[in-house]
Amino acid sequence: DIAAYVGGESSVKGVERIYKLSSNEGALGPSPKAQAALVATAGKLHRYPDGGSTELRKAIAARYGLDPTTIVCGAGSDELIGLLVKAYAGPGDEVLYSEHGFLMYGIYAKGCSAVPVTAPERNLCADVDALLAAVTDKTKLVFVTNPSNPTGTYTSAEELARLRAALPSHVLLVIDAAYAEYVDRNDYTTGLDLAQNTPNTVMLRTFSKLHALGGARVGWGVFPPAIADVMNRLRSPFNLTSSSQAAARAAIEDVEFQALCKTHNDYWLPWMKAELKALGLHTTDSVANFVLVQFPADGAHSAKAAHAFLQNRGLIVRPVGSYGLPEWLRITIGTGEENQMVIAALKDFLGAGS
Ligand code: PLP
Repeated sequence: DIAAYVGGESSVKGVERIYKLSSNEGALGPSPKAQAALVATAGKLHRYPDGGSTELRKAIAARYGLDPTTIVCGAGSDELIGLLVKAYAGPGDEVLYSEHGFLMYGIYAKGCSAVPVTAPERNLCADVDALLAAVTDKTKLVFVTNPSNPTGTYTSAEELARLRAALPSHVLLVIDAAYAEYVDRNDYTTGLDLAQNTPNTVMLRTFSKLHALGGARVGWGVFPPAIADVMNRLRSPFNLTSSSQAAARAAIEDVEFQALCKTHNDYWLPWMKAELKALGLHTTDSVANFVLVQFPADGAHSAKAAHAFLQNRGLIVRPVGSYGLPEWLRITIGTGEENQMVIAALKDFLGAGS
């Protein structure tokens, strides 16, 4: 059912509407200004886009006080992850990341005949010592997702700096900060400082989460000059459509809407955690726009049973068995109504409904 991918009306018997809480897309949808900017490009689509995404890079640079020449945009940060692996890892090389790290690192590594290697986590958090212990002379890239998906936990600025300092200089450290905008912990860093001040660290960001432009496919990163040059030579010449560039530019300039999305998450993330705790369910200490919830290993209240139960109510959440977490479900923070529906459904599922 296509509705399972996009949300909305359902063609499944007995399910009226589908609520998609499985891909961590921003709950409020794209900024109205971003939508208008995208529509305004329709009559100009006979023209090729600006291959350098110049205005978008300038707008990102202005938002965060960056040098636009250090920014490279991609068709989603997925494209940038893929290009980095393609550029720096070949057959037999190792691409290292944390045990429950984002799936695409391993998928792209395999695509280049490189070997995905994972390091154990501690309490579902990346463990810098375990990552360092897993480095060999074949390691070419280390990915750290910060905060991580699907656990939602983060690695402190101090730990990231320690990792960079201890890694061999030929190893590229990629800090994937897809959920950075949601975090406000004093000891958190996006990795920007390392990307700006070392020749071998990259920070990646996306418009798919807080800016809710996943369908437009826009990612960006800050790269040391030599790596930016490689990315610009490897990427396809017109990798971002003119519509996507316009939408993303309006989104990054709409600071008010960004604050609204952040405030929404600041309210509903702790609300979800507290409600789940009240139901006796354990969650990680997620700082992103999703929660990771643990269910009993088997029996009537397993993650598999919970997933099926929610699905029958039209609530699509994410099983994370493919991340090595079969007892857990990842639930994206949705609109207030969606969050309340998830909790009401889980109450019924656990037999705790009133
Ligand atoms: N990195 C992480 C950690 C993600 O969770 C995601 C999307 O789920 C991505 C990258 C890819 O995002 P994009 O839509 O920019 O390709």
